[in-house]
Amino acid sequence: MSQTRDNNSEFGFDYPPSLESLPVSFKESYGLFINNSFSAPGELFESLDPSSGRVISKLTKANKSDVGRAFKAARAAQPAWAALPGGVRGQYLFKIARLLGERMREGAVIEAIDGGKVISEARDIDLPLAVQHFFYYAGWADKLDFACPDIKKPVPLGVVGAIIPWNFPMLMLAWKIAPALACGNTIVLKPAETTSLGAMWFCEIILAAGLPKGVVNIITGDGQTGEEMVKNNQVDKIAFTGSTSVGKKIASLTNKATLELGGKSANIVFADCAIDQAVESIIEGIFFNRGHVCCAGSRLLVEESIEEVIISKLKRRMDTLIVGPALDKNSDIGPINSLSQLNTIKDLVKSAEMEGASVYQSASALPRGGLWFKPTLLIDVTPAMRVAREEIFGPVLSVMTFRTPDEAISLANSSPYGLAAGVWTNKGSKALEVTARLKAGVVWQNSYNLFDAASPFGGIKESGYGREGGIQGLRDYLGEGV
Ligand code: NAD
Repeated sequence: MSQTRDNNSEFGFDYPPSLESLPVSFKESYGLFINNSFSAPGELFESLDPSSGRVISKLTKANKSDVGRAFKAARAAQPAWAALPGGVRGQYLFKIARLLGERMREGAVIEAIDGGKVISEARDIDLPLAVQHFFYYAGWADKLDFACPDIKKPVPLGVVGAIIPWNFPMLMLAWKIAPALACGNTIVLKPAETTSLGAMWFCEIILAAGLPKGVVNIITGDGQTGEEMVKNNQVDKIAFTGSTSVGKKIASLTNKATLELGGKSANIVFADCAIDQAVESIIEGIFFNRGHVCCAGSRLLVEESIEEVIISKLKRRMDTLIVGPALDKNSDIGPINSLSQLNTIKDLVKSAEMEGASVYQSASALPRGGLWFKPTLLIDVTPAMRVAREEIFGPVLSVMTFRTPDEAISLANSSPYGLAAGVWTNKGSKALEVTARLKAGVVWQNSYNLFDAASPFGGIKESGYGREGGIQGLRDYLGEGV
């Protein structure tokens, strides 16, 4: 061990370089990953780093014939994959989990550069959860007979087409690939157009795990590519996560889809709760991942008697949040993922102002370049305003008040969405009663945004149908054999 002073530290200690400064490299352009190899790049579109606005790489927009090739490869690989003993499929998934686990830091850096997710979240939440999903479903691959008691003889559905959004690229990829493969399906996956580089990197893990060719195929492209996937006649199931508007379009084209869609989740805070913990969790509930979270607690329903104290504590806490480049460890809020999303957020906040809400924005300075939006609080929001009804998908919290539990429940349920909710109270009986009456797929009590591979996640109403995670997440990848 070196005892001499060097440039690493003014105190003379030696430090290795931080893992987040790991150099990751991107190719100038990427083709499509079909049958375990990359095709030559085709028609290209740019992938940007939202922290700086610079072009990082270019990706191929898969056309109808590319989509056909990918499904053909998946179809050809499926019988042999399904015929493997479940335990062997499990071993492949364990291998992916281990390899992804070993390269987690690198994956986190890619997620931060490519999508604008702050490195602390990518490193501590997205990548570990993605790894956990592969481990979790690896364990089920040889126990499918016990997973779904309502299916007498579980068999794979065949070829899955998976279409995912940009807010949790690596986690959404794991949500789809792990259960699909565990059940004996093969897959064609399309990441979102602004966050495809993590999926391109994941192809290296597929190769290193020695997966038979055609079992996982990853193609890039936009909505048109997605639509070609939905219309492809080789597809046995579409697993879609994304917006409600696209989900509805997909549902009009096929009855083979499960849909994980948008949300406008209510976080209900009763006066008898632990206020400081609630404030911290409200902040986490809306500002985690810059509010690009389907289940973000974007409607804060506060009991009238504590409105003033909650708002003043929220403002104080918001002022401490650092808006900064995604790779900076000190950043709490990274850049908005794309210019079009930034414009949507600005438009909705403006609409709230025009409809009579007052707007508070955090004191944080904004970096130059990149796509930035300050953490924002909308006060005096009424249920009819657009910001109370529409998903903003950004760091914007709308506050409304209530006087009774009935009023809170009715406000929370008056939304076309039904993805998640939070309930803050120190009274167990009140927590249980309110929770039971909330129309949402997931309800957190005295907490928010807790995720686990063993726990099912999904919505009702316009938040979609089907479940991801847990045993329930296997159900939609299995059919009944004869
Ligand atoms: P989006 O619907 O615009 O896009 C999602 C994916 O669908 C992308 O890969 C896109 O290329 C593709 N796509 C677009 N048009 C298509 C079409 N006509 N046919 C087939 N595919 C098409 O959503 P987004 O903006 O990427 O993601 C944000 C949305 O995702 C939010 O509404 C959020 O709430 C939702 N989301 C839901 C969950 C959940 O579990 N419920 C999780 C994460 C995100």
